Amino acid sequence: MNVPPVPGLLGLDHFEVDRDHPHIAIDHDVCETRCTQRSCLTVCPADVYTEHEGRIIPDTAACLECGTCVIACVPEALSWHYPDGTHGVQYRYG
Ligand code: SF4
Ligand code: SF4
Repeated sequence: MNVPPVPGLLGLDHFEVDRDHPHIAIDHDVCETRCTQRSCLTVCPADVYTEHEGRIIPDTAACLECGTCVIACVPEALSWHYPDGTHGVQYRYG
């Protein structure tokens, strides 16, 4: 079976963003003082996290809801919950 490259697969899903209640929030004080590995930049399969001038910014609309970043992040730096109601990721092929 031929499996398409990951960027192509990511283009098949859809994420309904909850702008009033984002499902990812970072405590920047904790993030910038306690984290040495910046694991979110490498473990997220969807490249949700990017760094701008030392600050980590999540693009919640790209999230696959896999939960990997929750495990990799330092305690208390990341607030993550499944999106509410009709928000969140929708997979078009299973
Ligand atoms: S892993 Fe968590 S604490 Fe570390 S840079 Fe990413 S968001 Fe910040
Ligand atoms: S839940 Fe998965 S896809 Fe979403 S931000 Fe975390 S690692 Fe990335």
